[in-house]
Amino acid sequence: MRPVVRGPWPKDEDGNDINYKDYATARAELISRLGECCSYCEMRLNTALAVEHVQPKNPKGVSSPIRERELDWNNFLLACTNCNSTKGAKDVELTEYFWPDRDNTFRAFRYSEGGIIRPSESLPESKKKMAQKTIELTGLNKHPSHDPKASDRRWLNRGETWNIAQESKNDLQENDTPQMRRQIIRTAMGQGYWSIWMTVFEDDPEMKKRLIDAISGTAKECFSEGNYSPTHRLGGQI
Ligand SMILES: [Zn+2]
Repeated sequence: MRPVVRGPWPKDEDGNDINYKDYATARAELISRLGECCSYCEMRLNTALAVEHVQPKNPKGVSSPIRERELDWNNFLLACTNCNSTKGAKDVELTEYFWPDRDNTFRAFRYSEGGIIRPSESLPESKKKMAQKTIELTGLNKHPSHDPKASDRRWLNRGETWNIAQESKNDLQENDTPQMRRQIIRTAMGQGYWSIWMTVFEDDPEMKKRLIDAISGTAKECFSEGNYSPTHRLGGQI
């Protein structure tokens, strides 16, 4: 899960914080700051990308929307239909999960062949549990082995992307030129699932730098200078 920076509350022409009357009007600004992809599963989407409320605006058991949550820029991310509907209206205790706008979420999960996502092996047990809870909250573990009739295709798309990234890496080994590197980045941006590309190219710092720079909103402070390995995020839980 790509760690992101949402940035400060957007201003109007007079330099005042925009007073959102409808959260959907924040969508364009969020896309320009975070890139056109789901903040959780990293699926690239041109349409059907919704403003996501980290803390739900209508948590279960509450009769009307909580306005402070509904219209709070600092509570917004972007989500696809699958992540949005899986997460739903479950009220969340922020400290029990990892969040891409607060934590170095790239450090929390391990991506592997087939598009499988698991908690990183290197985490202490308590953080592994948090990572697992985050995976379950957003349904990133949904797979036909769990539900053969699932309409959710995120796992399938991740698996395909893993194969494309691997083929791209092989192409680069055959023909390592700046042009080939740029072409692979274009493919990665069109394909989405940034974390998969970062994982497949984890031994190639120059490609990781290109990936970090290629999409708006990536939290650059989450990666070390020089080899672009994930580091602890200041203020985050990982
Ligand atoms: Zn998603």
